[in-house]
Amino acid sequence: MTTVTTLAQALAQAQATGLARIDAQMLLLHVLGRSTRDRAWLLTHDADTLTADALARWQALCARRAAGEPVAYLTGHKEFFGLALQVDARVLDPRPDTETLVEWALELLTPRPAPRVADLGTGSGAIALALQQQRPDAQVLAVDASADALAVARANAQRLGLAVQCVHGDWLAGLAGPFDIIVSNPPYIPAQDPHLAALTHEPLSALASGADGLDDIRTIVAQAPALLAPGGWLLLEHGWDQAPAVQTLLRAAGFAQVQGRNDLAGIARCSGGTMPVGLSPAMK
Ligand code: GLN
Repeated sequence: MTTVTTLAQALAQAQATGLARIDAQMLLLHVLGRSTRDRAWLLTHDADTLTADALARWQALCARRAAGEPVAYLTGHKEFFGLALQVDARVLDPRPDTETLVEWALELLTPRPAPRVADLGTGSGAIALALQQQRPDAQVLAVDASADALAVARANAQRLGLAVQCVHGDWLAGLAGPFDIIVSNPPYIPAQDPHLAALTHEPLSALASGADGLDDIRTIVAQAPALLAPGGWLLLEHGWDQAPAVQTLLRAAGFAQVQGRNDLAGIARCSGGTMPVGLSPAMK
């Protein structure tokens, strides 16, 4: 094996093995104790030499990445909506596409003072924490059925100094409404989907949901009307081809203004609807 000494040589070697450049860079920054926001630093220090120890640790991480572990689990960090989250294999690795859901929720919350918000299946707390940070006046509930996930969300809330309330629960069961917005990125991949094979490092309970992937979405759509404030909204993330099915479920449950939002790749990634004033069971 060649004696790799400089950062530039190390990165070139990783790329030659097929590792994405950005992944190799993030892992190298992690080993060097630098922020993953410091990619420009790598370029200006590409002639710096790596210690044998740092090189060995970095190569071990590259090997794990090549075997499919998300970079976020290897570094323990993920940036989401400008927040530095701590993540590990107890929670789904937050995807940039989910920022679409946050942006949509923030838009709808704009005219509502001191709104009540629930994030169902919060995982790392990504959505709940982003909403709380943008809207300090909101009362945000972060719900998860996994005690492990909730521990991650709670630690993130504490570290970021955000007042999100973390609640152990099964979607909306046992929660007291009304909520102005209920938001969720639930598991939605069909149980037999071959795509799951590439995601074995993430919790299956955060990814797969029955034969058509819609079991949990059906539960949430059925539960939400009773807990939404009049004019409140339910917003859901879903799979690339599920928008028509999810929007049909929403309409059948009495939601109005049913519509979707595209993710960064232009895929119809979120759907939502509102409980019309007067029809909301929360009014009764
Ligand atoms: N969007 C993720 C994927 O397909 C899945 C996230 C989820 O199930 N909520 O890789």
